[in-house]
Amino acid sequence: MSDNLLGVVPVVDHDDKLHEECGVAAIYGHPEASKLAYLSLYALQHRGQESAGISSSDGTQIYTKKAMGHVADIFTNDVIKALPGPLAIGHTRYSTSGDTVERNAQPFSVHCNKGRISVAHNGNITNASELRKSLEARGSIFQASSDTEVILHLVAHSREKTMAAALRDALLQLEGAFSLVFLAEDCIIVARDPRGFRPLAMGKLEISGGKPAYVFASETCAFDLINAVYLGDVQPGEMVIVGPEGVTRERYAPEKPHSQCVFEHVYFARPDSFVFGRQVQDSRDLMGRLLARETPAPADIVVPVPDSGNSAALGYAAESGLPYRLALIRNHYVGRTFIEPSQAIRDFGVKLKLNPVRSLLEGQSVVLIDDSIVRGTTSRKIVRMVRNAGAREVHLRISCPPTVSPCFYGVDTPNKSELIAANSSIEEIRRFVEADSLAFLSLGALQHAVADTHGKYCYACYTGDYPTDLVSIEQLIRAGKKSGG
Ligand code: AMP
Repeated sequence: MSDNLLGVVPVVDHDDKLHEECGVAAIYGHPEASKLAYLSLYALQHRGQESAGISSSDGTQIYTKKAMGHVADIFTNDVIKALPGPLAIGHTRYSTSGDTVERNAQPFSVHCNKGRISVAHNGNITNASELRKSLEARGSIFQASSDTEVILHLVAHSREKTMAAALRDALLQLEGAFSLVFLAEDCIIVARDPRGFRPLAMGKLEISGGKPAYVFASETCAFDLINAVYLGDVQPGEMVIVGPEGVTRERYAPEKPHSQCVFEHVYFARPDSFVFGRQVQDSRDLMGRLLARETPAPADIVVPVPDSGNSAALGYAAESGLPYRLALIRNHYVGRTFIEPSQAIRDFGVKLKLNPVRSLLEGQSVVLIDDSIVRGTTSRKIVRMVRNAGAREVHLRISCPPTVSPCFYGVDTPNKSELIAANSSIEEIRRFVEADSLAFLSLGALQHAVADTHGKYCYACYTGDYPTDLVSIEQLIRAGKKSGG
């Protein structure tokens, strides 16, 4: 995709928060909607651990509770009781440092000229800065730096009379990645961007003696917890309205080539989820098998880096015939903050999270499987850890291609300048991570692993070929297509 320098605007002075990883959920028509939203968010906790929120509606009022922290800590019984009504939406959010403030927690709720509305968003609106500048010039006052708030202002500014029509109007002005859930007083409206970057699944929950409830979530693991049946995905460019008149599905935007995020299958989603209609475990297993076929290693055992390498390592072990050994143990209770020892301990951070099992590693040649290398610093610490625990050789295999370009569609990747694979050869990375050998999965094999026979996935982080034009200087600088300063 060529660089679009037309209409480029300077980097805006507010904190232009671009890289958000999130999970969203919505419930329509259940007496305990906020509890089901809470359970859905609980299942989606891996998609964001920084803040969480739920909005509910009882038909006349919208109630919202959001806070920093984990879902289970924020939503006590009393908090859920204060979120009444049969409709609810929820959000769980992770963002990079510098923007870890409660005012950016979602859902955002407002009372505007179209009525009461609340919104939660997964993805990244790539023209948010441009839209915000023009809205501010027309008098809009923003409360947060998140790109999501722009949508509410566009709805308020729309000349359309109904909420659904105003939303359609707003969505058509957005570029980039968005899976959105909206709550109005008496309906839920959900939508996906026309390229379908981020997932959004639809499900149904039978209620004995009553009408079924409808549920939406970023991943189907949320449906499993609340006993909902997965009906399929909200389609790219589709808007679904669930209200007193029933379910209405409409294509709100013209057809565009699809760009589903392949990194959902590589790392982000849970293996027990169906994402883009495909079980994530199946993709990861195949990534591991193809990795073993493409780049066998002279090893005695296969060891996953938990949890990110677990599923691909199973595939690698099955294909290579080597034994699968859980020789790295992960502490699942590591929080965001911890008290550091006063004397520096080498590789302290990674030791908090992972510890080797010496008896499995001593004297062994190990093939270590992980999903990705971003900066390379984690891999280096883990390779050292495995070697220090007695491994004779450490061969590192990565179940995706080298990450060479940042994501603008909702995955948190650093600037190109900080991506080790963008600036070093594979041999240089091998030396940096101190492995005996290093290999990545090929792009063709990754396409095969996600069954992408029709070119429906986005691989921009591996190719630098972005499916949308980069519209701001900040984006061009992050992608290394323009220098800073
Ligand atoms: P590093 O190479 O040290 O930057 O870290 C790579 C590790 O971070 C890999 O083990 C991945 O599992 C994990 N990882 C990769 N991408 C992300 C992401 N977007 N958010 C959180 N963790 C990630």
